[in-house]
Amino acid sequence: MSSPSPWDINRERMVEEQLIPRGIHDEATLRAMRTVPRHLFVDDAMASAAYGDHPLPIGSGQTISQPYIVALMTQALALKGHERVLEIGTGSGYQAAVLSRICRKVYTIERIDALLVRARKVFDRLHYHNIISRIDDGTAGWPDEAPFDGILVTAGGPKIPEPLIEQLADPGRLVIPVGDQFLQELQLLEKTKGEIKVRTIEYVRFVNLIGTHGWSA
Ligand code: SAH
Repeated sequence: MSSPSPWDINRERMVEEQLIPRGIHDEATLRAMRTVPRHLFVDDAMASAAYGDHPLPIGSGQTISQPYIVALMTQALALKGHERVLEIGTGSGYQAAVLSRICRKVYTIERIDALLVRARKVFDRLHYHNIISRIDDGTAGWPDEAPFDGILVTAGGPKIPEPLIEQLADPGRLVIPVGDQFLQELQLLEKTKGEIKVRTIEYVRFVNLIGTHGWSA
């Protein structure tokens, strides 16, 4: 067996020091966080900071979330492996890549072309072929492919977009930061037997969700 690279060592340290002590316990989530090469989703100049305990800029005024937040959101979906998951806000592509390792298919929508072009290159390079992506306003969801077993929104909006609630399967889980433009509650919406329950799992700070059912700019 080849010896682990410095990237592998940093990634393992990220899991042991940032995720497990803060309560990330879902085995599938931990496995995906141990597998996906996060350093490939940021610019080369920032690769050495990729496994640090913080978000990083990815261009176009956007950010890749802190590893703990990616893990927390992933864990909240409670994926078993058979699910089809919709992500709003592809950004670097890292969150979609993590999801793709533990569900059947990921549908991801980004509104900024340059970011999606770059994310797609990384998906191809890693042979992550179960990720489908498109440019659009994700607050309207992806009606043609609905319903989704899980929906994950990685930008913060003023409320939960109605189309996303409609496009969530029953049973299904939706995770989204909701609040003002500076601080949001990370909300988990669960649909079960026609009933909807919402609870807050963390306080977070995300970039703005911009669109018809989000912020206007
Ligand atoms: N999941 C990303 C996080 C990116 S930051 C990652 O792992 O890197 C949030 C992203 O949401 C930004 O790229 C932003 O352009 C995008 N975004 C904001 N509003 C959106 C909308 N209505 N539809 C699709 N993407 C949106």
